[in-house]
Amino acid sequence: MIFRARQDLTLGGVPVTIKVSPRAQRMRLKVDPRTRAVLLTVPRRVSERRALAWAAGHRDWVEAALAAIPEGAPVLAGSTISLFGRPHAIEWDPRRPRRIEIADGRLLAGGPAEGLEGRVLRRIKAQALETLDRETRALAARAGVQVVRVGIGDPVSRWGSCSSSGTIRYSWRLIMAPEFVRHATVAHEVAHLVHLNHGPDFHALVEMLLGADPGPARKWLRKEGAALHRIGRATSPA
Ligand SMILES: [Zn+2]
Repeated sequence: MIFRARQDLTLGGVPVTIKVSPRAQRMRLKVDPRTRAVLLTVPRRVSERRALAWAAGHRDWVEAALAAIPEGAPVLAGSTISLFGRPHAIEWDPRRPRRIEIADGRLLAGGPAEGLEGRVLRRIKAQALETLDRETRALAARAGVQVVRVGIGDPVSRWGSCSSSGTIRYSWRLIMAPEFVRHATVAHEVAHLVHLNHGPDFHALVEMLLGADPGPARKWLRKEGAALHRIGRATSPA
């Protein structure tokens, strides 16, 4: 597959990224609600010129799709952020210590107003790593497997990944999701330590480790995942 960011066609202020796909049967335009990327998939037999002309004909659709994406949600004093699926109000008092404390339904923040968002996000990411590391190791022990390392990151399209070397990585944003969603993601990745595929044995192990059907968690992420991706991102580009 070939990816190219085009500067010669801009739709709704976003340069169109062309993906030439040998498998695509027809041209497709997609707007990614998380990255605001405009992606044009083109079958190999279609010329780039024709594809760009076709995409340009869909300018209204792209502009409407971009406009429908909610803007980034800044993390501010007085605003609320979800942790473990429960709203936590960010209470800022400059007389408090800089270290942010996660209390019951509250994030107690101190220090200067400047850099508050960065400090809150760093605290939440540290919490995400601590929680996900603990839960992953506990579940791996139950599955009778070793996890080499647990890490967090901010991938756009995945909530977790597992490498053949035994390293599991998660999106830190999972810590904002309800616990059943986080637990299902952990069970999914731990099951990959045993089966590096999505076969029937893998799915049976996920369900056994989770003790529940992971379907509702997948559904939740499909519906609410884009909202998690807005938190702490700059508002939409002008
Ligand atoms: Zn998987």
